[in-house]
Amino acid sequence: MSIKRSTAPIKFLTIHCAATPEGRANTAAEVTQWDTDRFGQPSYHLVIELSGRLVRTLDDDQIGVHVAKSNTGNIGVCYVGGMSKDMKVPKDTRTLRQKATLRDVVIAYKRKYPGLIVRGHNEWPGVAKACPSFDVNGWLKMEQL
Ligand SMILES: [Zn+2]
Repeated sequence: MSIKRSTAPIKFLTIHCAATPEGRANTAAEVTQWDTDRFGQPSYHLVIELSGRLVRTLDDDQIGVHVAKSNTGNIGVCYVGGMSKDMKVPKDTRTLRQKATLRDVVIAYKRKYPGLIVRGHNEWPGVAKACPSFDVNGWLKMEQL
């Protein structure tokens, strides 16, 4: 598996959900396997499991596959969950530990890449998806990030 690398500056961090049902403890390895089956490589740079465990799945300079046509210089972070138990509706299923980890990731990346823009997948132009199933802007404000 050869994953493209880029020296482009990191300008974005995009938050995603794995679109898995609430409470189902899929692992980062599973999420990565689904993406590899589908796209030939991991989609995201980081995956956050229900326990809050953070798993690195790509290096920052490797190009992910998580926002159509806008993957260069764009870090993808995915939390496990994002759908209701019955898989009928998008839902913010983040556990307290996932929220805490996500917060730590945002703080660390903003520090590492000044001027970094953090947004949800659904905020990218032309994206008709609910991903990541919560209002990223509202959350950033609430967390004072
Ligand atoms: Zn997404």
